[in-house]
Amino acid sequence: MLDLSFTAPEPKVIAGAKHDWELVIGLEVHAQVSSNAKLFSGASTTFGAEPNSNVAFVDAAMPGMLPVINEFCVEQAVRTGLGLKADINLFSAFDRKNYFYPDLPQGYQISQLYHPIVGEGEIIVDMAPGVARKVRVERIHLEQDAGKSIHDMDPNMSFVDLNRTGVALMEIVSRPDIRGPEEAAAYVVKLRQILRYLGTCDGNMQNGNLRADVNVSICRPGAYEKYQETQDFSHLGTRCEIKNMNSMRFIQQAIEYEARRQIAIVEDGGEVVQETRLYDPDKGETRSMRSKEEAHDYRYFPCPDLLPLEIEQGWVDDIAKTLPELPDEKKARFVTEFGLTEYDASVLTAEAENAAYFEKVADGNDGKLAANWVINELFGRLKKDDKDITDSPVSPDQLGAIVGLIKKGDISGKIAKDLFEIVYTEGGDPAQIVEDRGMKQVTDLGAIEAAVEQIIADNPAQVEKAKQNPKLAGWFVGQVMKATGGKANPKAVNEIVAKKLA
Ligand code: ADP
Ligand code: MG
Repeated sequence: MLDLSFTAPEPKVIAGAKHDWELVIGLEVHAQVSSNAKLFSGASTTFGAEPNSNVAFVDAAMPGMLPVINEFCVEQAVRTGLGLKADINLFSAFDRKNYFYPDLPQGYQISQLYHPIVGEGEIIVDMAPGVARKVRVERIHLEQDAGKSIHDMDPNMSFVDLNRTGVALMEIVSRPDIRGPEEAAAYVVKLRQILRYLGTCDGNMQNGNLRADVNVSICRPGAYEKYQETQDFSHLGTRCEIKNMNSMRFIQQAIEYEARRQIAIVEDGGEVVQETRLYDPDKGETRSMRSKEEAHDYRYFPCPDLLPLEIEQGWVDDIAKTLPELPDEKKARFVTEFGLTEYDASVLTAEAENAAYFEKVADGNDGKLAANWVINELFGRLKKDDKDITDSPVSPDQLGAIVGLIKKGDISGKIAKDLFEIVYTEGGDPAQIVEDRGMKQVTDLGAIEAAVEQIIADNPAQVEKAKQNPKLAGWFVGQVMKATGGKANPKAVNEIVAKKLA
């Protein structure tokens, strides 16, 4: 059974000029809800549409327009909460966050400050096979996204595209339980994987559908443990927030840079100022964007246009029943059911589609062999063609048939690779191809013996040498395989060669 217990977070220790330092990191991830319509309007959410074509009157903040909550977006947030084993709040409410947003014409964002829809949950972050850490999720709230300002189309004008204005976001806020750059990236990887399994966010970071604000502080060894004991933030250092990161690599680089910047300040006798910073990937550094604003700066107040959101436990229970098997459970099952290593199980469960494909191949087959073929041959081949599993030219049934032929001893592993390539490029029924093209493995011991005798008879000098040095028997095995077009059963060939040379 796979051990999903986890060790305490292991801090990354950074040596300063004077002391050792540890990192404390908390992430706020904005995940765009997978939904055809926006959070408070029926406008479409299609990516890449003609600018300002997906805009309802309420998105454009036309006077007198009222927001209407999209039930499906609420369902998606609940589903996400359940997937993160979090508390679902049957009562939640929307608040106005007032701010000057050039691409959100309302002049405020509708968000959930005081009563978020989802409370405490957790994410098991996989660091390496057998090493996992638990990061607490503090809350998930629903809010609107802003539109997009475009400054590079005209030298004298800026443009605005309101297509994204009002699209539903889930803000998933972690506790400051992340202790290093690799862990931060692994957290985002795992969260993204769970969201994709749940179907609540497509996780497309390139399109900005998943982006993270990264909060970083430094502390001396021992301080974090005091925070954990007391949950008192005063034991921690002052944090800086790096906004809008949409690449795992940049997240790590930004944290590394930010940690060193803060260490240098503190060791120099200075103080870290709480602020919002931006990461510049070209320069590899973060720079100040604005000083940190507090909640009261936004003059949050309950949105008078929306009633509090009250949902029923029965509805939540119904959603819970439709939850898919999640990555941790699937991985554990793959280890026990198919005897896979944790590493192979992780690779196969990284995406739900890969896992489903593998399970079809493994159905009625040797699980380990099936895993090898899916991971090494199929994934390798697809990668070469830059193809996704969903457009694999080899179906699970076909690959299952190939694996079955190997297991039965009908074809050798080497011939199987040729067969795989034929099926990949030409299609067809693997068993039939083996039949038609005479690819069957020779297990007829008489035929193999004859081939061995022939090679021995033709190479008396080699035979003498091999008798002195048994390691040279491999040469005979190679010759027999060559003579039989790779079809001789390698195990039988080895045995017969050894016997004849003895
Ligand atoms: P805000 O919206 O003002 O950024 P939130 O409470 O929404 O505040 O988010 C704060 C984030 O910063 C959380 O992810 C939290 O875990 C993290 N955080 C809080 N204090 C620290 C700290 N000292 N070091 C690192 N991260 C922190
Ligand atoms: Mg924040």
